[in-house]
Amino acid sequence: MAAERQQLCKKCYNKIFPYQKYCRKCASYNIYYDDSQFNVGNKSKIKRSESTSYVVQLAKELYSLGIELTLEPEIWYTSCDFYTPDLVVNNKIIIEVDGPVHENMKIKKNDRIRQRALENTGYLVYRFKNREIAESLGDVITKIKYILSQSRGVSPKIFEIDVPEGNTMSNISGSFVKAYASALNSTLLTIDRWDAIYFKEFLSRYDPSPIDNRCAMEKLIFILLGLSLRSKDYQDERVIDFGHYSVLFDKSVAIMNELFGKAAEIELKNAFNITATNFIKNLIFYGKPRVAVSRLVWIKYYNSIVYHINEFNEYFLKFGISVEESDVKLECLGELEKIECRLQERARFNRLIKNDKISKSEINRLSWLEIWLEEAKSLHWLSEWLGYEKPLYHNRL
Ligand SMILES: [Zn+2]
Repeated sequence: MAAERQQLCKKCYNKIFPYQKYCRKCASYNIYYDDSQFNVGNKSKIKRSESTSYVVQLAKELYSLGIELTLEPEIWYTSCDFYTPDLVVNNKIIIEVDGPVHENMKIKKNDRIRQRALENTGYLVYRFKNREIAESLGDVITKIKYILSQSRGVSPKIFEIDVPEGNTMSNISGSFVKAYASALNSTLLTIDRWDAIYFKEFLSRYDPSPIDNRCAMEKLIFILLGLSLRSKDYQDERVIDFGHYSVLFDKSVAIMNELFGKAAEIELKNAFNITATNFIKNLIFYGKPRVAVSRLVWIKYYNSIVYHINEFNEYFLKFGISVEESDVKLECLGELEKIECRLQERARFNRLIKNDKISKSEINRLSWLEIWLEEAKSLHWLSEWLGYEKPLYHNRL
């Protein structure tokens, strides 16, 4: 990684990089700011969006009152991903300032799920609106001071997730981890093999690099969990056996703890918290989590969604992981929109097929859609539950 030139902030003498528009400590404008350096380095996932003027205004005010803050800190909630909230006060209180964009349902959902992960990590999260800062900054400051006074003396249990450089996914390929996971999975014949000693022993026989990489191990474990899912019978229906799944998850948490310490355990929980709604969505649409080979359970009734969500929460609340119906609903709406796009693509392709202008591989690429559409005839209830008005499954079949 090329060295990034550091300067010192003119106001508070904090170190400052040219890609930061504002000083992270005092929020004053960085006179060395150079937006051509926006995406320097190899951390391509970095959200280097600029702080809004509302956030800067609030941060400056807090700084002038002698309150310690960090503007847009990197907070890793798993080894594989991090998040930059608007600001952190006293290293434990996250303050998010929401603009009108946060009225958008999808962003709202992602924020809520991320907030849960941050809270599990030990942070307190408070949200204010642009409008509050513009119209009543004094009230916002009073509230923040009150929050600070309340939290004084309460030692926060924040697990600094400090991900070492080079410990990200970038140096271990995803397909390698996948291959490794399925090899390991084929040897996990009994539940007591789900422990750190066995995992270490198995992985050391070949290329032991994942065992030293928290992000790679996290991905490997989620693939294993997906491959180990079981279903069970419940009132004439096949349902996911979340009891079994939670036992394996518990073992996975212990493995991560053993290999990398407490922070890795929290990361694993955070990662699952963030993907759990997606997990349920995939059972509704495809009957399987992404990594499973075959269809396991296909949720085909509204009552079955409710059952799965309740079961999930019953077994996973103890890990601080939960799913809400409203979040699943939003996730499903997003999926319907994706399918809508593919249907349009298919219609376009059908015209091309007539004129013989399409390759065999493209036809194959869409062939699964034909199968899905055939089966989706029984999914009418979905549109109703989601309030999806487009006649998705009718007319076009
Ligand atoms: Zn400064």
